[in-house]
Amino acid sequence: MRKRRLGSIEFYETGNSNKTLLSVGKIHGDEEYSKYGILEALKEIENGFSSIKYIAIPEVNPTKNHNYNCVNINRDFGIFGENKTRELTEIVKTYNPKFIIDHHDNLETAFGFLVILPTTYTKNEYEIAKDLVKHICFNKNFINPCDDVLEVDNKYLRFLSVGVYSWDDNHSLIGYHKKGLVVEVDTKIVSKETAIEIHKECDLFLAKELEKLKIQ
Ligand SMILES: [Zn+2]
Repeated sequence: MRKRRLGSIEFYETGNSNKTLLSVGKIHGDEEYSKYGILEALKEIENGFSSIKYIAIPEVNPTKNHNYNCVNINRDFGIFGENKTRELTEIVKTYNPKFIIDHHDNLETAFGFLVILPTTYTKNEYEIAKDLVKHICFNKNFINPCDDVLEVDNKYLRFLSVGVYSWDDNHSLIGYHKKGLVVEVDTKIVSKETAIEIHKECDLFLAKELEKLKIQ
C-alpha cells in the first residue's frame, strides 16, 4: 500500500493493475461513516485482491462541515471553483478508473440508500450496479430490497434512478466522469455500524466485479 497526496487530498493506492476502482469518501465533511468503511475495505482489498488497483480517498473534506470552504464540493464539478474539486478531478484523470464509488451519509433526509448511474451507463455497468444493490439488500440484509424505488418505514430507498435524475446538470462527481461505472451510495436512516458496513461491502463488491472484468 502506498500513501499518496495530491495537493490537500491524502489517499492510498494498492495493487499494480490498470483496472482501477476509485473510492471517494467524506466529500461532505458531516458524512463521516464513509471514511471508516473505506479504511476497512482498504485492509481487505490490499490482502485479497491482486489483479486490480484500488485508490481509496477516505476523506475529501476533513472538516466536520458539510461544505468545504463554504462550497459544496459535490456541486463544484464543471465549475471547479475550489482547489479540492480540482485536486479530486486530477486524481480521477490520473487513474482513469473503471469504477468510481462516491460514498455519502446523510442522516437528515428521507432516503435509505441510493444508487445512481450516470446517464452514460452501459448495460454491463447497469447489471453490476443492480447486483451491487441486490448484494447490499438481499445477501447482506442491510435494508429491504426492491426493484426501482423502495419504501422503508415511510422513507424511500431509490435505486437506479436512471432517466429520473440527470446528475450532469448538478455538477456532482458522479455526473462528471463519463468513462466507467460511477455509483453514489448514500446510507441514510441506518445506524453508524450499518453505514460503515455498507460502505465497506460496496467497495469489496465492486473490487470483486472489477477482478472479473476482462478489459485493458
Ligand atoms: Zn453527501
